[in-house]
Amino acid sequence: ADPLVLADVVRTFDDGTAEVKVLTGANLTVREGELVALVAPSGAGKSTLLQIAGLLEHPDAGRVMIGGTDAGRLSDKDRTALRRDRIGFIYQFHHLMGDFSARENVALPQRLAGRSARAALARADELLDRLGLKDRRKHRPAELSGGERQRVAIARAVANEPRVLLADEPTGNLDQRTAGAVRDAFLTLSRDTGLAALVATHNQTLAGELDRTVTLKQGKIVSTEEVNR
Ligand code: ADP
Ligand code: ADP
Repeated sequence: ADPLVLADVVRTFDDGTAEVKVLTGANLTVREGELVALVAPSGAGKSTLLQIAGLLEHPDAGRVMIGGTDAGRLSDKDRTALRRDRIGFIYQFHHLMGDFSARENVALPQRLAGRSARAALARADELLDRLGLKDRRKHRPAELSGGERQRVAIARAVANEPRVLLADEPTGNLDQRTAGAVRDAFLTLSRDTGLAALVATHNQTLAGELDRTVTLKQGKIVSTEEVNR
């Protein structure tokens, strides 16, 4: 099954005076190994879409399928478990634990999922090496550059092998050069592990190197041209 399917997703907010129709029947499928950029103006509904795809908010109508499982049919408890086990999140700011080293930050969600300390640290090291952070394993976030921190956050987000990674402006806080290292991290993981991702971004360079770009028009997903790697 596809890692992420949004089918006819509707979300309307009531701001007290009027209804704001943010999503009016949004459809999107992200396939295995596919990196999809979501590029749309501020206020178009990108965050709302990511929150719904990440099972953090309910749609008013429509379905969210994660790896073939219809999240709307689950109990709150099972939906929370599905989110924890199958979805990774990356934000503009990294939210790493300041007192923990890079490898400990990447090990943490694995420990919470029940993996042994030894196995969690081994996987953390393997992921950090893969993302070019071999000599940064023992550094704390404050001792890392912005791009390095964001790559640690990516390693943490994929540590429990999610089906899909959701990223909200992952390079929003970085300059073009460091953003390049973050971009490479997505491409490496997609190539090596079949990672699927939906990445909301204003970064045209990042968007241009992903597999395809979609946008939001009047609450619906509209595909722009397919971009070849
Ligand atoms: P984007 O991420 O593309 O900037 P958002 O999804 O944050 O867009 O917001 C889309 C629209 O939905 C905006 O008009 C915003 O004001 C409105 N909106 C988002 N969340 C809420 C909410 N909780 N209550 C009311 N309106 C909201
Ligand atoms: P409402 O009563 O407005 O429909 P929701 O059911 O959307 O409220 O959310 C109620 C609470 O459940 C929220 O505080 C939110 O944190 C949590 N929640 C909402 N959607 C999900 C979800 N898909 N997975 C887990 N928790 C959720």
